[in-house]
Formats: sequence, C-alpha cells, structure tokens
Amino acid sequence: MGCHRLNRNDRGNTLFLKDIYHWIDFGTLSGRKALTDIVGNFINQKEANTFKGGCVMYNFMYFTPTKVFFGNDAESKVGEVLKEYGYKKILIHYGGGSIKKTGLFDRIAKSLYDAGLAYAELGGVEPNPKIGLIREGIKFCKQEEVDFILAVGGGSVIDSAKSISMGLANNMDPWDMISTQTMPTKQFPIGVVLTLAAAGSEMSNSHVVSNPEVHLKRSLDHDLLRPIVTFMNPELTYTVNKFQTGCGIVDTMMHTFERYFTIDEDNDLIDRISEGIIVSVKNAGLVAIKEPDNYEARATLMWASSLSHNGLTGCGKKTYFPAHMIEHDISGVFDHVAHGAGLSVIFPAWATYIYKHDIRKFSQFAARIWGVEMDYDHPEKTALAGIETMKNYFRQIGMPTTMKELGIEPKDYEKIADKSTNKGEKTVESYIQLTKEDIIAIYNLAR
Ligand SMILES: [Zn+2]
Repeated sequence: MGCHRLNRNDRGNTLFLKDIYHWIDFGTLSGRKALTDIVGNFINQKEANTFKGGCVMYNFMYFTPTKVFFGNDAESKVGEVLKEYGYKKILIHYGGGSIKKTGLFDRIAKSLYDAGLAYAELGGVEPNPKIGLIREGIKFCKQEEVDFILAVGGGSVIDSAKSISMGLANNMDPWDMISTQTMPTKQFPIGVVLTLAAAGSEMSNSHVVSNPEVHLKRSLDHDLLRPIVTFMNPELTYTVNKFQTGCGIVDTMMHTFERYFTIDEDNDLIDRISEGIIVSVKNAGLVAIKEPDNYEARATLMWASSLSHNGLTGCGKKTYFPAHMIEHDISGVFDHVAHGAGLSVIFPAWATYIYKHDIRKFSQFAARIWGVEMDYDHPEKTALAGIETMKNYFRQIGMPTTMKELGIEPKDYEKIADKSTNKGEKTVESYIQLTKEDIIAIYNLAR
C-alpha cells in the first residue's frame, strides 16, 4: 500500500492538531501520518521512533473455516448437520453439568438420536481447563471410538475439546505440545454449541490449558484448532450470571484491543471495524447486565465474541497480546481468578503504563470508543481520560479493577512476574519489551 507522507509545509504553517484530528475522521492515511509526526513532539525522541513504522497493512492470510449456525434454534440442527458431515459417534464434552439442569443436554442428545448418531459424554471441565481431564478425554475417545467432539459450553469447555482433539490427531501429549510449542500437523474434528459469549474460541485458532502441577497456564495457536462448525443460540446465554457476563464483555473487548494497540499503525479499515465491535459490545453489555434475557443484547455479545477473536480484527497487523500474557500467569498461579476478571484489572494498568508510547492511538481510542472529548493541545490527557472511562465502565458492569479485588497482595507480585518472565530471563513483547520490573510496575498501578 502506498503512503503519501504529508508534512507541515503541505498545508502551510497554520496546521494545528485540531485540523489533523478533523482530517483523521475523514480517514486519510496521510493526515494521520502527519498527526503522528506532531504528536511525536509531545514525547521524547526514543518514544517517537515508535511512530516511524506508520502506514502499514502487512500481507496476511485470512482463514475462518468455521460454519456458523446462529439464531434462537441453532442447537436443534446439531444432529442433521453432523450427519451430513458423515460423523457417526459424537463425544458431548461439557462442564459442571448445568446443561443437564437446563435441558440443553437432552435436546442435543435427542437431535443426535433423531439423526441416527450415537454419542458418549464427558463432563467435568473446570474453568481454566486442566490437563488431567484432557488426558482422560483422549483415552476415553479412543476407547469409545468417537469420530467427532462436540463442546457444549464456553471457552474452557471448547479449549478442553481442542486440546483433546490435538492429542488424539497427533498422537502426542497435549501438554508436551503446548510447553514446547510443537504445532499440530493433523486435525481431529470438533464443533461447538456455545453457551457463553466470551472467549471467542468457537471460531478462533487458539486454546489455553492449565497444568496445576507446575502452576502454569499456556496457550497454543494453530488453524487446525479451529472448530469446523459452531451452533450459536443467544438465548442459551440468558442464564449466564452478571459476573460471568461481565467477564465475557471484558474478554471480548480485549481480543480486539490486543490487536488494536500494536506498533504497526494506520490500518484504518481494521481500526474502524475494531472500534465498531467494541462500541457495540460496550452498549449491549450495559443492557445485558440489566436485562439478562434481552435477545438483541445477548445476540450482539455472542456474535461479537466470535468476530473479536476469529482473526478479522488482526488482519494485516502484527499482534502480541501482552495483557493476555500477563493475565494468564495471574490465573495460572491463582486458579480462582477468572480470565475476564484478570484482564479487567491488568489491561487498564498496562494501558496506563504504556500509553506514552502511542499517544495518538490511545487518544483515538478515548475519543472514538469512550466518547472522551479530544483535547487537541494535550492528547495525552485525552488518552488518560479514555483509560479512566474504560475503568469506570468495567466497574459499572461489576468487574474488578484492582489486584486486591482479585485477592492478590503485593507480596505475591514477584512470584507471578517470575512466571511471565522465566525469573527475569525473558520479556513480554508489547510497545516495549516488558521486563519483570515493568510487569511488577503494572501490578502496582492496579494495586
Ligand atoms: Zn481472552
């Protein structure tokens, strides 16, 4: 993509920040590049270097093979659809058993039965899915000779199913694969009946697994981990409680934010798609918290959870997911911490620590997403006000914003930061390489 570099002389000496922000809203890349140069003056030269890579859409491959059935009767199609694919015996994989109480299990079982398909069941997936049950699942699938795994639940159940399928297809222990980042070469097919709008795992290439023996939670991403089919009925999320709904709202936002704040700038199309998703989630989130059975709000949150993590908002960008990296070690060490709750604490603290490296983007985030009025003379104030408004929103939907609320005290900080940095030997990639000390400073901002 070409990029005309505009400098002050192109418009004479009367160029003010306000003019350029006005321009940005008309979407010219050159206008934003000029702004980049000017905002660079607000920060020191080393930090300004961050902006030099502007005007980039990297080459990319976009692959979202998941067939989606969306609507208020989606799960009733499970049997006929899986039969059409040619599967014969299905493992129904689920969590704590609420799907039995609500009758969802019976409806799915009936749909399979009516289509002439056999099934076996394996429940008991815990939040932050554990490698122990996954290993059990691999044995069970072999013993039962299932040819398809249907995850009925949210991110933890889906990720557990992904891990079982990865182990089965590649004949390796999934924890060995994750811990050595050994990529799968074969696929065992999985599908999803989604009951929680949050993780986006129903379309994503990623999964996260916990190993309590070593207090580690690690992820592995590969396109062979994308479900082949997903059934999404927003009504199934009416019973999700306020806290879990809040966790889902935060996690969905984060999957887009982690792709929004990257060193490569000026991907205007993707920025605006991302901002649209987040603003919709913000609005629908407030409604869903107050009216749990509001179909439109639940449908918006559900589809947004998929769009946020299926790759769309990362097209042409290089992404690192620093807040997720930091959060995974918090919930890896403290198993009671829900992923969304950890993120609602860490992300604003990360943003406060890092915003000076990209004042232009953080002020854009404040103005376009959080409705903060742009202070053209002091965009750094706008940026900070945006972060504060986001934190207030998280509080409004009942989410924590401090480590204390997560039950984590300052004496624990070093232990968690050690996990993220292998005792200070490695860094977490972000706008800068975050060292162990940086990560502890981020915890302290959320103390
Ligand atoms: Zn997440």
